Amino acid sequence: MSATVQSRSLLTEADKAELQKICGEAVRFDEPLAAYTSWKIGGPADAWISAESESQLAGVMRFCLRRKMPWFALGSGSNLLIGDGGIRGLVLRLAGDFTEIALRDDATHVTVQAGASASMALVTAKAASLGAIGIGSLAGIPGTVGGSLRMNAGTDFEMGDFVREVWVQSPSKPEPHAVSIQYFYRHTTLARDAIVSRVSLAFERGDPKTVREEMQSRLVRRKATQPIALPNAGSCFRNPEGDKAARLIEAVGAKGWREGGAEVSPLHANFINNVNGASAKDVAMLLARVRREVYDRLGVELQLEVHLVGVFTDE
Ligand SMILES: Cc1cc2nc3c(=O)[nH]c(=O)nc-3n(C[C@H](O)[C@H](O)[C@H](O)COP(=O)(O)OP(=O)(O)OC[C@H]3O[C@@H](n4cnc5c(N)ncnc54)[C@H](O)[C@@H]3O)c2cc1C
Repeated sequence: MSATVQSRSLLTEADKAELQKICGEAVRFDEPLAAYTSWKIGGPADAWISAESESQLAGVMRFCLRRKMPWFALGSGSNLLIGDGGIRGLVLRLAGDFTEIALRDDATHVTVQAGASASMALVTAKAASLGAIGIGSLAGIPGTVGGSLRMNAGTDFEMGDFVREVWVQSPSKPEPHAVSIQYFYRHTTLARDAIVSRVSLAFERGDPKTVREEMQSRLVRRKATQPIALPNAGSCFRNPEGDKAARLIEAVGAKGWREGGAEVSPLHANFINNVNGASAKDVAMLLARVRREVYDRLGVELQLEVHLVGVFTDE
């Protein structure tokens, strides 16, 4: 189903010229965002910026402060439903220096220092090869380090269990600085106006072969139980205390429900797949229908795990 929502850009021609001065080739205007999300859904960003270094990011942050410009941090877009009307202001992706990963090990510990846009797949594979105990819990999460930090992503163990230090940048404090954060189930106290630039993680060190085998068996289990080959954003709803969202959604018979090009996965009820050019509106309507049915029939109010961002309404 094609999206028809449109909104006006917040950027003036002077803003565009200034952003080009700060970012050079790394800024694009009215850039469609669907390609940057695992759902393959989302309208255009007024400006899409791929920042290569902490100093370039600091320049963008200063611009945002001066112009009171809204901005949004985009990781690998694996937990996002971006509205068909896109995102007003700046969408910031981190690249270049922010993809670096450095590992150290001693007799007892493995430490990982990673830029915020390093992929979790690479971090987990490298850390496993040094025997980082618990890393299997973070394996198979198709996100970046920064996005996974913001989400406190994980399975039985979560990012927050391993974090040693986090550096962020923000419009009010553009240079990288360390912050202390609290971690909860799929959310954290990381300030809304902070973009994570670097993270250091620490793991106890075990036998690399055992750690790798455990990680491998988790990846195999994932493949069998999740529709990982289809465009989706993983689990849409958080698990309610003491229960599983997937179990509740399956119990109301929602597997296979469709809205436009969106379908509740027949394999894993908490996943919604984009099976045929779904719009954000299709997915949002399906999410609402599932949530309503679970509440009406089972009395449980499901909370979204995926973040809904940008413009959803027709203007
Ligand atoms: C097939 C599949 C399986 C999944 N399995 C799991 C799982 O087992 N466990 C789990 O927890 N999640 C899972 N997810 C969800 C998702 O992969 C995680 O939430 C992931 O950590 C999101 O990272 P991202 O880089 O894609 O973030 P995005 O989706 O790009 O962004 C998510 C949030 O983080 C913010 N953000 C991104 N980068 C930064 C940054 N540098 N600084 C500050 N904020 C930032 C964004 O603004 C947004 O609010 C799965 C998703 C898929 C598609």
